[in-house]
Amino acid sequence: MSTDPVVVTVDQSRCIGSGLCARTAPDALTLAPNGRAAPLHPTATPSPDLTEAAEMCPVEAIAVHHATTGELLAPVW
Ligand code: SF4
Repeated sequence: MSTDPVVVTVDQSRCIGSGLCARTAPDALTLAPNGRAAPLHPTATPSPDLTEAAEMCPVEAIAVHHATTGELLAPVW
């Protein structure tokens, strides 16, 4: 797995606030006071936990893109 920085985004209109992603990848995602998930930092280090969080979100609200190329890294089915 590359260690190049990634950008994590959460579609606020989709997120249902399950908290699943924040529990799975607490270094990258948190539940904001509005009850929706949000990235903790503008960029993150890729990790299996982050990939899993993006892939297990029940409403596909999370996207992980390569910070430089913009390539979608997760979820990838
Ligand atoms: S797993 Fe998806 S729906 Fe649940 S809090 Fe995270 S982004 Fe929102």
